[in-house]
Amino acid sequence: MKTKNFQLINHQWFTDSRQVTGAASDAQLADAVFFAIQGEHHDGHDFIGELYKKGIRQFVVERSALTPDRRTELMHYADATFIEVDSSLQTLQTLAAEQRRTVHIPIIGITGSNGKTIVKEWLAQLLEGGQVFPDFIIAKSPKSYNSQLGVPLSVHQLNESHTLGIFEAGISKVHEMQELETIIRPTIGIFTNIGTAHDEGFRTRKQKIAEKLRLFIHADTLIYCADYTDIDEEARLLLKAVNPNIQFVTWSLKGRQATYQGVIQDDKLTLTNSDGSSIELKLPFFDRASVENLLHCLVTMLTLQPWPKETLQSRLNRLRPVSMRLEQKEGINNSVLIDDSYNNDVAGLQLALSFLNQQSTRSRRVVILSDVLQSGQPENDLYEQVGDLIRANDVGQFVGIGPIVSQNAHFFADNSLFYTTTDAFLAQFPFNELRDSTVLVKGARPFSFERIVARLERKVHGTVLEINLDALTHNLNYYREKVGSDTKLMVMVKAFAYGSGSAEVAQLLQFHRVDYLAVAYADEGISLRQNGIDLPVMVMNPAPETFDALLAYNLEPEIYSMRILREWGEFVQEAWSKGQGAGSLEPGLSSDILPRAPRPIHLKIDTGMHRLGFLETELSEVASYLKNHPNLHVATVFSHLAGSDDAQFNAFSKQQYETFLRSTAVLEAALGYRPTRHLLNSAGIVRFPEYKLDMVRLGIGLYGVEASGINQSALQTVGTLRTVVSQIKTVRAGESIGYSRRGVLDHEARIATLAIGYADGYDRRLGNSIGHVWVNGTRCPTVGNICMDMTMIDVTSAMVSEGDEVLIFGPELPITELAKQMQTIPYEILTGVSDRVKRVFFKEGN
Ligand SMILES: *Cc1c(COP(=O)(O)O)cnc(C)c1O
Repeated sequence: MKTKNFQLINHQWFTDSRQVTGAASDAQLADAVFFAIQGEHHDGHDFIGELYKKGIRQFVVERSALTPDRRTELMHYADATFIEVDSSLQTLQTLAAEQRRTVHIPIIGITGSNGKTIVKEWLAQLLEGGQVFPDFIIAKSPKSYNSQLGVPLSVHQLNESHTLGIFEAGISKVHEMQELETIIRPTIGIFTNIGTAHDEGFRTRKQKIAEKLRLFIHADTLIYCADYTDIDEEARLLLKAVNPNIQFVTWSLKGRQATYQGVIQDDKLTLTNSDGSSIELKLPFFDRASVENLLHCLVTMLTLQPWPKETLQSRLNRLRPVSMRLEQKEGINNSVLIDDSYNNDVAGLQLALSFLNQQSTRSRRVVILSDVLQSGQPENDLYEQVGDLIRANDVGQFVGIGPIVSQNAHFFADNSLFYTTTDAFLAQFPFNELRDSTVLVKGARPFSFERIVARLERKVHGTVLEINLDALTHNLNYYREKVGSDTKLMVMVKAFAYGSGSAEVAQLLQFHRVDYLAVAYADEGISLRQNGIDLPVMVMNPAPETFDALLAYNLEPEIYSMRILREWGEFVQEAWSKGQGAGSLEPGLSSDILPRAPRPIHLKIDTGMHRLGFLETELSEVASYLKNHPNLHVATVFSHLAGSDDAQFNAFSKQQYETFLRSTAVLEAALGYRPTRHLLNSAGIVRFPEYKLDMVRLGIGLYGVEASGINQSALQTVGTLRTVVSQIKTVRAGESIGYSRRGVLDHEARIATLAIGYADGYDRRLGNSIGHVWVNGTRCPTVGNICMDMTMIDVTSAMVSEGDEVLIFGPELPITELAKQMQTIPYEILTGVSDRVKRVFFKEGN
């Protein structure tokens, strides 16, 4: 097998099989390299066959993954090259480091607890200057690609036309930075700040600082804020010791010793150099975090070269908030919008297109794209590449906006539309054409694509539930890690995915290849199928009226009683005799299932919950029925713990587990095969790993609530419910607020009326100061009874104006707290957010 690693540098790299999409240009795929990585959640080696079929011919594979069976499999791909290594990730890192050594331009490396991505994006915005004659041609990490895998992929973008690189490095454990340093090898460093993120991976804060400082052991210059005295001390003590020639360029807003002294007054910054020179600039943002990020950027600019004050000011004025979010929104004409309107480079385009691929719930895909700025590639190559990407992602309609993309129309399909400006697009585009499409809107900043989004978006009135898809992924991975790769995962998406939106959540779960989905009713399963979900789906309450649909949509019933077993058995028997298989009732539904293939069922055993399920004593009857009905196949057997979240029921849980084991043994012996066994829900996974068996059923944990309360901090908040202030008024003491005059004021108060009521899911039990909401950083109590569509709160102590956003629950106000106030459980709050509240899905981008 070949080992000429250096040759791989000039090829396109893939590490995620999902990014290699269908019809990509064959030559491009044949030239690309796939690095098979054994991760905690996926093993890249499992997808080699699939990728070979798509046209990939070069693979980097790990020795430890090459079992004899796998070697036999790989022999079938005779014209492919397999490069055997110990670690694919390490190979990727080594290659990127080699590539870095061939480049001799300034490279800015950024680390720190917060602000890395914003500083990187702002610096790029500030430094690139004019579109036509940029000051710098910049290669930068896409979005927040700053991990052990993200960094080599970022650095791999460097080519000979770039004049500056800006890369970020993020670490969560000791010893990780060393690797990233060899790959980035920054000449200029920025240490943004130090906070508590990832504290658990380090013994002390000093250790964390020391580890981060390793990024700069070969740098010429390090920029940081001297007001972080820990950073200042450790840099002088540790970094100086290993890199004595390094220059520190520091700044302070508190008068500490530093290269630059900053003074902020209103929106003005005066920055005085230690040489006595000074400039005054008007800042575009003045919250604390933005000011810090801006100062890092300004000091970096001044370190690179001198700038006329007017240039600095005009570039600052053009600065936009960094939106790294790819937002999925409801559009006009039943369309779905994916909003990525602040950024347009090729790497980002690739990410956005794979998101489009992943989340398409409409069959037609439309891409609206501006000129691609600052790629550093010759125009011809660039647009050829963009054209290929668009084709590879099955885009039905391409719309190019900008003079340059318009000139390169020949790289795009014949039905593509081109406009030289955003104004021309808005004036001339036939918007009706977007009906029933998924539309990606992606543009570079100067094209103001936010105006296009405003035109296409179905206006959201008042209250929205934001769903963070990255948090969902994080939580999924947390539970996957807990159960390990030998245990399968069924995810509960009943009740509109616990209120979060079934189609979109299921879409994401399908992308992450979970094993099973489960819903409560046939309708929910049908809706999943209609939204393109083809994972196996278990239906927990299969009513006989829905049997036709179960069969047609290939949904798998939970069988919990002899009655339902006989009804389903007879139904399937009849379908067999008529030659009907899955998909036979629904013309558009294709399926490989033969009419006479046995139908999968899921047997529910009642081990103590006493809800649905067979008692242990009924199982011999079940088994003998099944023996006589070969048209039914028991795919899984399961039961449900009644008190998995609470230690006082541990003995009972154990008893349920033992009953379950006895029951499955009886069934197995009688059936002659072993169905998949599952018992645990979310709390069970955390509290009883020893009962995990062959599969677990993840529910509320995916949505960010750790039901046992042991490990809440390991999960991320998925849903944020927001509303807006409709009106504010001052009301005298003694007056009453709302229905039945319940909220009598004991002080003169500013009262805000919110656009949310119990019909939206803001529970009436939260009225009369029981509940609080979060208004611009202040907790404000409800006043009086909650109405159907409105709620009044006391904002006397808050800074707030009409139209401001108010947080009902979310990261700052956990659902668990609301649940306590209401004396209920988080499940009820999540699933209680009503249908009329719009769901907005977003993703931070990486
Ligand atoms: C809803 C449900 C689950 C998931 O429970 P969580 O507590 O949300 O994890 C698991 N099993 C069954 C049978 C369920 O109905």
